[in-house]
Amino acid sequence: MSLENKLIQYRDAGYPIIFIESFEEDKVDKIISEIAAKARLSAIEWNGAVGACDFNKKEQLGTRKLTLSETLEIISKDDLNRKLIVIKDMNEQLSDFQTVAQIKQIALKISSGVECTIIMISPTLTIPRDLEKFITVLEQDYMNEHEINQIITDFAERNDIRVANELKEQLSIALKGLTEMEINNILALAVSTDGDITKKNLQFIFEQKQQMIMKSGILEMIPLQENIDDIGGLENLKSWLRRKSKVFNNINKAKDFGVGMPKGLLIAGVPGCGKSLSAKATASLFEVPLLRLDMGRLMGKYVGESERNMRNAIRLAEAISPCVLWIDELEKAFAGIGSQNSNEVTTRLFGTFLTWMQEKTSPAFVLATANDITRMPPELLRKGRFDEIFFVDLPNPEERRKIFEVHIRKRRPNDLPNIDVKKLVSITDGYSGADIEGVVRDGIENAFCDDELSVTTKYIEDAINSTTPLKKIMKDDLDKMKEEYKKRNLKNATKN
Ligand code: ADP
Repeated sequence: MSLENKLIQYRDAGYPIIFIESFEEDKVDKIISEIAAKARLSAIEWNGAVGACDFNKKEQLGTRKLTLSETLEIISKDDLNRKLIVIKDMNEQLSDFQTVAQIKQIALKISSGVECTIIMISPTLTIPRDLEKFITVLEQDYMNEHEINQIITDFAERNDIRVANELKEQLSIALKGLTEMEINNILALAVSTDGDITKKNLQFIFEQKQQMIMKSGILEMIPLQENIDDIGGLENLKSWLRRKSKVFNNINKAKDFGVGMPKGLLIAGVPGCGKSLSAKATASLFEVPLLRLDMGRLMGKYVGESERNMRNAIRLAEAISPCVLWIDELEKAFAGIGSQNSNEVTTRLFGTFLTWMQEKTSPAFVLATANDITRMPPELLRKGRFDEIFFVDLPNPEERRKIFEVHIRKRRPNDLPNIDVKKLVSITDGYSGADIEGVVRDGIENAFCDDELSVTTKYIEDAINSTTPLKKIMKDDLDKMKEEYKKRNLKNATKN
């Protein structure tokens, strides 16, 4: 439902205070003014710049700038019926208990039947506890491709530039997830640097978008440098991903055929064995952006903030979709849920996440990674949440050979034929993929420092001998983990 319709619905239902979380006052003003005109309501505004003012003309009321408290006092003396009270820039004013009490009084009147609505607009949500039960929060919708296309068309007209239809369509996808103001800013920046909007700008837009998503503070856009061939081994997992990519790369065709949208994948298992690497490779394979959700940052300190952050992250991911939403260390976020000492906020967050996973139809593919599945709530592992759960173990000899080859080829392609990889494999039982990458890196660095012209087997062997493999460091934990995975009958990522 659009913001306008939601606003109408909540007003009609007599909700006393509607909080609209938005950066775009202009756009929200337009919506309010349309609602006011249609329903013949009179609107009054208070903002930080002029105090009390006429909503449409923004002309100051009274001979001086009134405080919010003074304004509310005057308004409450009048008949409140058929009024909209619009409040902006109120964060500072809301730390004053008298002002909060006045708002509460008006809210109580509305609750008892007076036809009036208080609308608060702010980019940041701070709700005093006393007002919590009166407030309903609405967020501004992200725009769909069609609306973004219109913004680009308007922008091009205003600036007298031509943008070909095909490019417009590509731009509309690239700009998904941004607000109207942000889109206009990016376009203006592109024009001021290049004097035009061309295909070349797509990369620029991608970088700008990355910045803006970072500013949201919850999602991070990860540059894609790895692809599926950078993963040594894990053949079962890779062939599963290749099949899914067929659906993802032909979403419309697949839908027409009756194929359901892939929901997501959970990769669990031994640290340093390619789980994060697989997340990155998946986004490359699906040819979509990779967004990382940081669960730690999600947890806010205000009431309801964590859930709101979660909803925002989900909304943003859906707006940007098709994309891969990578949730790293999933078990950390949801550990201990359902147990006696589980915390209420995490439990609610978990609920929001589960419901979304269950109902999700958008092409936002969730890729969750976890080191320890035993701490995870069983609901997560049930069918209907993830399409599949893979277990990643320490690499077997064949996989170690491939991992050595991947990393040696990456850095010293010409040395690869002369290095005895078979020998290296035979002395690295219990080494993780990350361990192997480490010994290759160390061996190369040592050869360089010794002024060698090429890297020999000996250099990597020495590095192996001075590294303790993961299996030794984590012996008991790994055994326990393996047993758990066996018990749960999870698919092994390695080809058996
Ligand atoms: P985790 O399973 O803890 O997420 P990562 O995927 O981050 O581990 O692995 C760390 C690094 O180790 C990777 O960036 C990669 O260079 C190397 N690595 C791990 N597993 C593999 C693998 N199967 N193939 C190639 N490199 C690997």
